[in-house]
Amino acid sequence: NSLFKIEKLSKVFEDGTKALDDVSLTINQHEVTIIIGPSGSGKSTLLRTLNLMEYPTEGTIEFEGKNILNPNYDVYEHRKHVGMVFQNFNLFPHLTILENLTLAQVDVLKRDKSEAISKAMTLLEKVGLAEKINNYPNQLSGGQQQRVAILRALLMDPTAILFDEPTSALDPEMIKEVLLLMKDLIQTGITMIIVTHEMGFARHFADKIVVMDKGGKIIEEGHPSVIFNE
Ligand code: ADP
Ligand code: ADP
Repeated sequence: NSLFKIEKLSKVFEDGTKALDDVSLTINQHEVTIIIGPSGSGKSTLLRTLNLMEYPTEGTIEFEGKNILNPNYDVYEHRKHVGMVFQNFNLFPHLTILENLTLAQVDVLKRDKSEAISKAMTLLEKVGLAEKINNYPNQLSGGQQQRVAILRALLMDPTAILFDEPTSALDPEMIKEVLLLMKDLIQTGITMIIVTHEMGFARHFADKIVVMDKGGKIIEEGHPSVIFNE
């Protein structure tokens, strides 16, 4: 069952840089799709088009059968269903960990504050960060901040989460704890689309690997056993 249907996507930036070139890709529900490729091959741009942080110059993107590039499409609503985790965590620096995890639940999803807090606490306890609720992001390690950022995305009950190099800013020990949490998320059946250089993770956990190359083209696509020729 396809969640995203991407057809003939191209993106040329104003300075003439071609970031995507005729990209077609189907992303299935409940699958882990991992996008790999050298720096500058358009991985991040492709990911960003999926939550409309970037608009393609040509092509179509359907989400749950709807054309998300239609000018009348509700971007705000879309982002409730498609969460994003960034390389640099992007927590609100002036809010505590608990506030970071409850703000959007209350403001966007209109949850009661007590319900929002209880959902946040449940997840924080699972990842062992419950004692950090009153700390500010800069008082946590990078790995802890990224795990909070992942929980923040998860608390919106999204259909899919996009990960843009979620471990690239982290030291090796912290990479492990973030990948461990991402493995746990896979078990929940949430659709995950991940740009990463973690080849071990990709080999073991991807349902589909998409290989991009210079000029923003997909050069190969398939199950890890095919991509890694095993
Ligand atoms: P990757 O994620 O694979 O490293 P990106 O999608 O970030 O690649 O970038 C693809 C190409 O588009 C690169 O050449 C990059 O320099 C260029 N690019 C990205 N964002 C912009 C922008 N806002 N304006 C101009 N060029 C950009
Ligand atoms: P890049 O050079 O693009 O950063 P690497 O090939 O160095 O990517 O892999 C990134 C991470 O994945 C490293 O932590 C590395 O130890 C791990 N890794 C790479 N290849 C494998 C593999 N075949 N099995 C398990 N882990 C791997």
